[in-house]
Amino acid sequence: MIREAHIVAVGDEVLWGETINTNAAWMARFLMSLGVRPTFQCVVPDDETAIRTTVQQSLANTDLVVVIGGLGPTADDRTLDAVSHALSLPWYLDEAILEQLSQRHTRTAGWETSVQRQSRVLTGAEVWPNPRGQAPGQRVTWQDRQVVLLPGPPREMQGIAEKWMAPWLETQRPRVIHRDTYSIFDLGESAVAAHLFPLLNGQHPRAGIYAQPGRVDIRVETDDSLAGRVQRQRVRAWLKHRVPVPVYELGNDTREAYLVRWLVAHGMTVAAMESLTGGMILSQLIAVPGASQAVLGGIVAYQDRMKVEHGVPDRVIRDYGVVSAETALAMARAVMREFGATVGIASTGYAGPDGGTPEEPVGTFYVAAVHGERDVVRRRYSPLDREAVRQMACHTAVSAVWELLSLPTLLTPVARQD
Ligand code: ATP
Ligand code: MG
Repeated sequence: MIREAHIVAVGDEVLWGETINTNAAWMARFLMSLGVRPTFQCVVPDDETAIRTTVQQSLANTDLVVVIGGLGPTADDRTLDAVSHALSLPWYLDEAILEQLSQRHTRTAGWETSVQRQSRVLTGAEVWPNPRGQAPGQRVTWQDRQVVLLPGPPREMQGIAEKWMAPWLETQRPRVIHRDTYSIFDLGESAVAAHLFPLLNGQHPRAGIYAQPGRVDIRVETDDSLAGRVQRQRVRAWLKHRVPVPVYELGNDTREAYLVRWLVAHGMTVAAMESLTGGMILSQLIAVPGASQAVLGGIVAYQDRMKVEHGVPDRVIRDYGVVSAETALAMARAVMREFGATVGIASTGYAGPDGGTPEEPVGTFYVAAVHGERDVVRRRYSPLDREAVRQMACHTAVSAVWELLSLPTLLTPVARQD
């Protein structure tokens, strides 16, 4: 049974940063999708000793070692020799592959050596022909462990993995892993972590927290056993009741896409006056296909003068300051009026690094959402860099619209366990 795997990428260019290790990322997701958890990744040079010792160490620690790269025809391709030594398994020339590669190979100088090197197979290995190239993949059993060798070119590696490795792993995996993602937009990472401390601290289920500006995702993994299914339901209920702000279960959807669809379905329209976010809020709404039915447009009013020109009373800016709840609200109302929209949105704030006041330091912003006579205004402060503050303001604006329109958090109700 295979529960865990190590991923070893081989190659000087990868090690030196000339090639980005996309193979490891792809392989990790591939393994996860098949219920195998990667527990370690590394990059080793095109060096036989380095590959050999790494494979030996990995074999002592995991069920499956996936070695990617260094199977090609040239002298710097050392993987086969290294693994042969690591497992004390001799290799042999596989006649069938030799024949096949010989037929396909262009007859340039040295082609025989090239074909021979790529026809070497470890004794006892299962050969996985390469649908998109030459060197085949190989799988070999060593004691109760498994070693898989795959060529480095991404298309070839993926082709072999999909065609041969996936069906093989299907027969090896212990159980299905469910990954649920819950998103929180209205609290910072440390606050979320504090609320979820017992969940994040426990081993069962496995949970992780992933933060980006204005958004914190919590990923929870459970398996398909009865205990796993019960945990899955408990975590949901617990998140819902434990966190004081909305917890979203978005699946493959985004809030922006949901919002646009909802507005279209309800015959509503939106316009925005953006200062701090300079058009980012509208841009994220317009990224949704079909947005033209709901998004009317907006104004980037960065200087005070432009805000006033587009209907924000001079007096409001003077009395309350340009970064204030009153100004944000006046901006949202002004743009709603000017565009004849049913919903108006606005943002204003100090993105930094300069500016700000003692009461409203850099990193403070206000967003407002209005609909008819109703409004929601939010203030947030975050000492992040300029881009992060602006991104966070976009998320907060969507949250304000969410509250204003009482939209669901898409957190599906806990299903009954039969
Ligand atoms: P080849 O027959 O091309 O020599 P190989 O199995 O020996 O195949 P490598 O020589 O390690 O593989 O790599 C071949 C090419 O594949 C590299 O030049 C690089 O472009 C790409 N590659 C290798 N490793 C990776 C990796 N970890 N992530 C992304 N691309 C990679
Ligand atoms: Mg190579």
